[in-house]
This record gives sequence, C-alpha cells and structure tokens, in this order.
Amino acid sequence: MTAQTGKKNIIAGNWKMNLGLKASEALALTLRGLSDNLKKSEIWIAPSAIALAATTQALKGSAIRVGSQNVCAQKAGAFTGEVSVAMLQEIAVSFALVGHSERRSLYAESIDQCVARAFGAIEQGLDVVFCVGESLSERESGSTFEVVSAQLKPLLEALKNNGSVRSLVIAYEPVWAIGTGKVATTEQIAETHRDIHQLLSQYTTPETVVPILYGGSVTADNFASIIALEHVSGALVGGASLLYEKFAPLLEISEL
Ligand code: PEP
Repeated sequence: MTAQTGKKNIIAGNWKMNLGLKASEALALTLRGLSDNLKKSEIWIAPSAIALAATTQALKGSAIRVGSQNVCAQKAGAFTGEVSVAMLQEIAVSFALVGHSERRSLYAESIDQCVARAFGAIEQGLDVVFCVGESLSERESGSTFEVVSAQLKPLLEALKNNGSVRSLVIAYEPVWAIGTGKVATTEQIAETHRDIHQLLSQYTTPETVVPILYGGSVTADNFASIIALEHVSGALVGGASLLYEKFAPLLEISEL
C-alpha cells in the first residue's frame, strides 16, 4: 500500500478516546456522503479500537480510509493490550497513527518504540501517519527542528533500504498546540514543514512525495491560511473531527 494516492490533501481525523461504536458508525456514514464529491482531498479517520470493525464495514466501497490510533511492532504473541497489523488488516484498516504526542507523553512511548511500531507496521503493509513535534519549552529554547529530527531520522534511516518511505505520512504537531486552542503561526508551520521536507529529501527521490500534515487546534477559522502553505499536504485534526459540522468545513476549504 502506498500513502500517496496522487497529490490530494489528506484531512485526517483522530477521534482519540471519543465516540463509541454506534457514534463512530453514525459519523462515518455521514462522512461517507461527503467523500463522494471530493476532488482534491481524501478523508482518513482514526476511530477507537473498539469501533474500527464497524467503521470499516460502514465505509466499505467508499474512498474514506480507516486507521488505528496505534499498532504493535510485533506480529503476535504475549503483548497484552496491543493490536497487530494482521488483526487490523483482517478488518480492512489500512493505516495507523504512530507516535502521537499523547502516546509519547502520557504512555511514555520512547523514540525507539515509536520507530519500531512504525517500521513494523510499514513492513507488514500498513501506511503510517507518524507524528512528531516539540514541547513549548523546546520551541522556546530554539530546538524545534533538533527535536523533530531526533524523532524522525531513525525511522527514515530504518526505511531507507527498502523504498517503503512511500508508505509514510508525517504529521507535524507542536505538542503545545494540541487540544489547547493555540495554533502555531503560519511562519512557524512553514519553517518546520520546510525543514522536514528538506530532511525527507535526503531519503527520497524527487518523485517520491511524503505528505506532511499539520496538526494542532486546526479549525475552519485557521485552516485556509495553513493549507495554503508550501509543504503542507493536509491536517491531522482532533477536536474538530468529532462533529460533522466542524469537520466538513475543513474539507470545503481543502477543495477550494
Ligand atoms: C491531535 O490530537 O492530533 C490534534 C491535533 O488534536 P486537536 O486538533 O484537538 O488539537
């Protein structure tokens, strides 16, 4: 599977630990109606693990892609609480988020663990939205790119020999902007996306596009100026992805 299905914007919803099975199914069905008319955008959604099977079933035959909010690096065995790639593929899940800041900070997932999860998932055929981003103190001390690079480079190194960087989507999410209502400025987003793009170019051919999404309090009020930036290929959206009325306008903006 390749993450690049053309050069469409990816508008991805991370539903986190919100929406149970019925509510996920209902929102997925509403989005399904919307996806048929999209020309420049793709919808990707990451419901809770419990709602994945029902959601893929509700979206069968549609262009919307369903992803898991995390994935195990190992194929099977004694890994209590984890979900394997094969289990996800059996229910038509086609991508996974890896390294979300909530996993890194609240559940202490290390850089090495995140890289192992992403590498294992890609190797077994999933696409991965790999989340990177700096804390407020790291931003203020001027070490944003150092931090982002330390999170991303080991994965690019691991993927470089088998060409599977094509299965990768990056989500740049400043930790201080996630769920806080504080959006990074367009200058901050443009600069970090350009730096990530430059880092990626050391591992890819000019034809290989690795989409770089921005995430952090994206709403219809700020998205137009973000999606207009160079090297921004879409958004990873938390809060505003939970309601059709807030998510649909992001797609309208992406379609302009
Ligand atoms: C996220 O969880 O990845 C996210 C960006 O959340 P929010 O849009 O709510 O800031």
